[in-house]
Amino acid sequence: MRTLLILGGTGEARALAARAAGWRVVTSLAGRVRDPALPEGEVRVGGFGGPDGLAAWLVAEGVGAVVDATHPFASRISASAVSAARATGVPLLALHRPGWSERPGDDWRRVPGIAEAAATLPGLGARVMLTTGRQSLAAFAGLPLFFLVRTVDPPSPPLPARHHLLLDRGPYTVDGEAALMREHAIDVLVTKDSGGEMTAAKLTAARERGIPVVMVDRPARAAGVPTVSTVDDAVAWLRGIGAA
Ligand code: NAP
Repeated sequence: MRTLLILGGTGEARALAARAAGWRVVTSLAGRVRDPALPEGEVRVGGFGGPDGLAAWLVAEGVGAVVDATHPFASRISASAVSAARATGVPLLALHRPGWSERPGDDWRRVPGIAEAAATLPGLGARVMLTTGRQSLAAFAGLPLFFLVRTVDPPSPPLPARHHLLLDRGPYTVDGEAALMREHAIDVLVTKDSGGEMTAAKLTAARERGIPVVMVDRPARAAGVPTVSTVDDAVAWLRGIGAA
């Protein structure tokens, strides 16, 4: 049986692992989350040691295909996958769910990065719901605003001086998100354009409450990598590779 490496850490990666019939599936996780949801099949945890380490791993394990199903903001591992696939000739597919789109009634400010999100906040609101992940908090630490910080695992300092920390990982409901915004008198939401249904309820709640959203755009991706946005299309790509 040929080996498929799924670079994981997302719901799409878990769904693909369950549907990659005919392959020995190994899902790779970075090891950042303390209690990760585990996919079907084999799991390995931890970095590969950059592109060269990943290329060596592909060769050592006789990998026949790689699907990069990492989070849309995990750009270093995606760049590693591109280099390693090119160096070894192993076919690579990127599976990244679509980003979110603004709807009537939304008030979004798109920004290219976390630093720009922090720079946009003063003047926009005083009580911020911040859902950009625990690795991004330092950029907001110097701001004299209140932050409702929600992360999956506890963040390390620096954090904003005035904050309330919520550890949670979703999925979330519109009612739950609206209640949270009401309870903390939130007047602006900051989020990455992660896409997907699991965490989209905050956008609906913000729209209904008339709250502006600072939306951090996705990082640029390498050109020339076949890319799909659904697990169905990734399964079809695998069938094509299998038949080749
Ligand atoms: P990143 O900046 O792209 O990766 C940093 C380093 O972590 C990589 O160079 C690699 O180390 C290692 N790594 C990352 N993903 C890996 C994987 N699936 N398997 C093995 N090693 C991996 O990634 P990140 O933004 O820190 O995200 C880490 C993981 O969390 C990703 O797998 C992603 O799917 C998941 N995740 C990220 C976010 C987010 O907002 N960034 C949100 C939800 C889930 P080496 O160079 O040593 O190989």
